[in-house]
Amino acid sequence: MRYALFSDIHGNLEALQAVLADIHTQQVDRLICLGDLVGYGASPNECVATVRGSGAEVIAGNHDQAATGQFDLGYFNENATSAILWTRQALSPEAREYLEALPLVITHPGMRVVHASPQNPGEWEYILSAHEAARQFRAFPELICFIGHSHFPRLYRLHNGRVRELNLPDDQPVELPADCRHLVNVGSVGQPRDSNPLAGWTLYESDEQRLTLRRVAYPVAEAQARILGTTLPSFLAGRLARGI
Ligand code: ZN
Repeated sequence: MRYALFSDIHGNLEALQAVLADIHTQQVDRLICLGDLVGYGASPNECVATVRGSGAEVIAGNHDQAATGQFDLGYFNENATSAILWTRQALSPEAREYLEALPLVITHPGMRVVHASPQNPGEWEYILSAHEAARQFRAFPELICFIGHSHFPRLYRLHNGRVRELNLPDDQPVELPADCRHLVNVGSVGQPRDSNPLAGWTLYESDEQRLTLRRVAYPVAEAQARILGTTLPSFLAGRLARGI
């Protein structure tokens, strides 16, 4: 089975369209969206409609829950809070209803998918080190778990009781040894933060046990212009060009 895993779109329609076009060149069997469809970017309704139309299975992220009032604003920094308040008033009733109903976890044979962490899927903690990843492996029984949330593509490998963080290089297949388990951050479509402005998504070939982080160019200036045409903080436009 060939899975396309994409996350953290954040209302960036231009990045989402480029990623879906790239996914469609890869003969995937299933699409899975790991949440944060909205928040930060200027096209929340368009992104919700496009994800719905893609046929992807979808889970909720913290921004989706905050934009629908299901999660408290106290968690967020100033720019994120401004973006959530803007997104709340911009969301159509249909988009809000859709986001409100999203589940927190998807499982398939041998794999689990959550937005932030398998241990506490609704508590939105960040996994940014091998140490933080280590206890997460006890929280899922499957071979592999996919996450988003931090916007940093990462691969954590459990082998003989030890967890190592490995490089997840752009556009190069990574083999997953059969005697290991893995926790994988699939990167971000709409707001990459690894100093690379290219949109990211992850191809998982389950029969071959192989992963590829794909990076995709998109018209950043168009996404920026949309943000600058609203009352969203201009910082949210600037960061897209730098991938931060
Ligand atoms: Zn996010």
